Amino acid sequence: MTTNTAPVRPVLQFHNSLSRSKEAFRAIDGQPVGLYTCGPTVYNFAHIGNFRAYMFEDILRRTLRYAGYQVQQVMNLTDVDDKTIRGSLQAGVPLKTFTQPFIEAFFADLRTLGIEPAEHYPAATEHVPEMIALIQRLFDKGLAYASEDGSVYFKVSAFPAYGKLAHLDMSGLRAGARVAQDEYEKESVGDFALWKAWDANDGDVVWDSPWGRGRPGWHIECSAMAMKYLGETFDIHTGGIDNLFPHHENELAQTEGATGNPFVRVWMHCAHLRVNGEKMSKSLGNFFTLRDLLGKKYAGRELRYVLINGHYRQALNFTFDAVEAARASLARLDEFADRLAETAAGAQAGSGLPAWAGTCQQQFDAALFDDLNVPEALAALFALVREGNSAMQNGALAPAAAASLQALLTDWDRVLGILAMGRTKDTVLPEEVARALASRQTARQNRNWPESDRLRDELARLGWEVRDGKDGQKVKKL
Ligand code: AMP
Ligand code: ZN
Repeated sequence: MTTNTAPVRPVLQFHNSLSRSKEAFRAIDGQPVGLYTCGPTVYNFAHIGNFRAYMFEDILRRTLRYAGYQVQQVMNLTDVDDKTIRGSLQAGVPLKTFTQPFIEAFFADLRTLGIEPAEHYPAATEHVPEMIALIQRLFDKGLAYASEDGSVYFKVSAFPAYGKLAHLDMSGLRAGARVAQDEYEKESVGDFALWKAWDANDGDVVWDSPWGRGRPGWHIECSAMAMKYLGETFDIHTGGIDNLFPHHENELAQTEGATGNPFVRVWMHCAHLRVNGEKMSKSLGNFFTLRDLLGKKYAGRELRYVLINGHYRQALNFTFDAVEAARASLARLDEFADRLAETAAGAQAGSGLPAWAGTCQQQFDAALFDDLNVPEALAALFALVREGNSAMQNGALAPAAAASLQALLTDWDRVLGILAMGRTKDTVLPEEVARALASRQTARQNRNWPESDRLRDELARLGWEVRDGKDGQKVKKL
């Protein structure tokens, strides 16, 4: 028996951190979905905890497209903040020279994990005039004030809605208490820095502003860049759960304070990737970069599988057993895809799917559209593999039906992104080689040929030959 009616798509629902409930999603009429995703602070290689957040955003973006929406995704690059400045001073190099290799490594890692590129990757250092203009608007509304040292703070007590995103009890707020750092805990809720007056720790990282020389605070960066690319009100804003407070609370206060309009309609946050029960983080030192894991002979595709195989709102524990299990699951999928190709033998897809495949399809869509339940969508995929294998075993799958199943898998893979990814292992580049290559790319962009040649020699010393083609640098082990 086959079914040939197109399935009715379930309602797409997302959990909104603002309302703390699941809501049916509807985009702002007639526009692509505006999606702002807080991007990396480029002071180091991103770890796979960070990539859990970017992977959740990739699944979200792909699901929106699967559901028929166009998407305008913006992911910022935080290339000026407390951490990047500290790093560049420690390394004794200008801020841009310090951050550039990490930016390039980040894009390489996204490719390794099969994460689709966003439409825009604005860098904070390129948007300081927009930040200054936004701070000026806050001044005009009585929501900002300058302190004695020339820094500018957001006046939390003048914005009554403060705390609505993180659901804070503001009754104990000490009016006028200030916090200058970018990152702080709920206990320190207070007026936060929009503009930080220059001090010796900033080295030569400095811009002019109406309030004197200094640099932007971290939170104003995202408000200004989100508004520039997506407008004053847009559909979805995401990040890891640690971004909820203070970062997103402050972004909301700044933007809604300045515009008087709602900033974001749906806020979505993913839970943490953990190691032995603790958040994977640079400060705890319990992290793996993607490069660490590729060096252990795991493939980007296997790590992608591990990172999608958990509901985004539940903590996911990283273990090597999980990577081994991912490898076995992918092998099973590859074997199925090969058998299906043999059975289809080049036939055209038939008009319908076997009834059991139609059921799997409904399960897949229902799971995904219900707040991105990827583990259940994967369960539907493996149910399809089981049924399909037994049909092929019994000679009960016609070539046209096998071709229809191939088409269905291709369609699902628009979201999962694991089937079409290269089955061969990624080339494993040791960290120092990746670093040298990234620096060399920057040198070449800047037409700094002596530096480019020096790095070629350094790579040769490390045992790698580099060639320059029209697609950029290619390396080969000597
Ligand atoms: P950062 O570079 O620290 O600004 O973080 C970039 C993104 O990674 C943010 O959305 C964070 O919330 C997210 N993030 C950081 N650590 C983790 C983790 N262990 N699990 C999931 N997301 C994380
Ligand atoms: Zn942000």
